[in-house]
Amino acid sequence: MTIEEKIIIAFSEQTDKNRKILDSLKRSFAKKESKGMIKNSQLLEAYHKLIKEKRIEKDLKTEEVLRIRKVRSLSGIVIVSVLTKPYPCPGKCIYCPQQEGAPKSYLQEEPAVARAIMCDYKPYRQVQMRIKALEAIGHPTDKIDLRIIGATWSFYPKNYQTWFIKQCFKSVNDYPKNKKGTKALEKLQKENENAKRRIIGITIETRPDFIDIREIKRLRELGITRVELGVQSIYNDVLEINKRGHNIEQTIKATKLLKDAGLKICYQMMPNLLGSHPKKDFEMFEQLFSNPNFKPDYLKIYPCALLKEAPLYKIYKQNKFKPYTEKQLIELITKIKKITPYWLRIQRIIRDIPTSYIIEGGTKTSNIRQMILKMAEKENWQCKCIRCREVKDNYNPKEKLKLFRDDYEASEGKEIFLSFENYDRTKLYSILRLRIPSRATLPILENSAIVRELHTYGQLIAISKKDKAPQHKGLGKKLMKEAEKIAKQENKKQIAVISGIGVRGYYRKLGYGLKQTYMIKKI
Ligand code: SF4
Ligand SMILES: [Zn+2]
Repeated sequence: MTIEEKIIIAFSEQTDKNRKILDSLKRSFAKKESKGMIKNSQLLEAYHKLIKEKRIEKDLKTEEVLRIRKVRSLSGIVIVSVLTKPYPCPGKCIYCPQQEGAPKSYLQEEPAVARAIMCDYKPYRQVQMRIKALEAIGHPTDKIDLRIIGATWSFYPKNYQTWFIKQCFKSVNDYPKNKKGTKALEKLQKENENAKRRIIGITIETRPDFIDIREIKRLRELGITRVELGVQSIYNDVLEINKRGHNIEQTIKATKLLKDAGLKICYQMMPNLLGSHPKKDFEMFEQLFSNPNFKPDYLKIYPCALLKEAPLYKIYKQNKFKPYTEKQLIELITKIKKITPYWLRIQRIIRDIPTSYIIEGGTKTSNIRQMILKMAEKENWQCKCIRCREVKDNYNPKEKLKLFRDDYEASEGKEIFLSFENYDRTKLYSILRLRIPSRATLPILENSAIVRELHTYGQLIAISKKDKAPQHKGLGKKLMKEAEKIAKQENKKQIAVISGIGVRGYYRKLGYGLKQTYMIKKI
């Protein structure tokens, strides 16, 4: 037995699994066997091997502890997920689980849900609990990317939405103190602009048929900067048979409205739906990347997981539905990864559903992404998506960087994707998404080019500190200059940035001023 396997087996026998215990086991085994310190990535590998050989059982807590500490903040920000309370959803999607005590589509044992239940779904408590946990494992928390998850955001009552967002801002502003009372949303947002911990972006999840101009105005007032659209399929026959309740035309319209207002878009896609098959699914992703009607900025690939709690289970029992096997899923996702464009970020592959819930199929394998990564290394190819190329701790201050420009048509407008990368485009340091919209969705955006995203990658550095990592090398500033130049060439009169509340100060220094909910500069 290898030393890694011994550590994992010893760790799996602990009742209280935390990082301290793992570290002390690592030290004592290393000493006993006169070996150097073992990396968590090696342990993770041993853990998966032991599960495959059925020598230990899968355990979510072990997986959480083993995850390499830095990963969560390597993109330069920390993610704080907050769950909305259980509430009905207008959808009747046949694959969607409904469980008492959890919002539709979520299961009580999913880590984020378990945390929300502990906080009685109160956003204030969820946010502070998460910040505390992130700090306890050594993450800087001064740049927070807030992700609001739960069923369909736009279906919740408006006063609940406002209260929810206010509570999130207040929680971040107050941390580590716990204060009573409430303030107006604008006041809380203003306070956050200069707070120690800043909310640099907010994401919500919603359905394409809930997006119209009014909803967009509202999202902007709340400070939302990114929308995750439950698109699931681009085929109307598949959408219909799965009872999604919307069609692809609505997705196309929502995509255009959101992009023209500067919002970033993530598509949640669901291969293996009833009525589809691997070839049809692959063609769907080809369309997403090449058809200007789609071209999302981010992608979550959540193959349909067969759950007893969803109506699809009945259909499966009648032998009318078959989940893809692990092999089929790996083949499909590998093919997708091989054609992914430079401007897209694959956020996640396979949802974090406890495997005991999944009846059968490849979605039971939670480490498919890692398996594909390993295969890619062996076969010597690399996924070109943003996530796979982000510089992370590979940062080399001497590396020569080049400014790349990728132009593409999207939703009747023009997207210009600017990036600083190494010469062979395997290491990405900074990106900017500039849009020349098809038309101004909101009057304030008249004659405007729009910066939808500006991001520099690398280990998060506290706002007050300076050191050698790329966050402070001025790459963002250079990209903004380039964007301004291009906007002028496109005969635009101004640039509008859809800035997260906590990043407004950065744009002020570059000569931008707040107008309604955008940071704007005349050019
Ligand atoms: S819209 Fe989303 S939450 Fe609602 S039923 Fe469909 S999958 Fe479930
Ligand atoms: Zn990738």
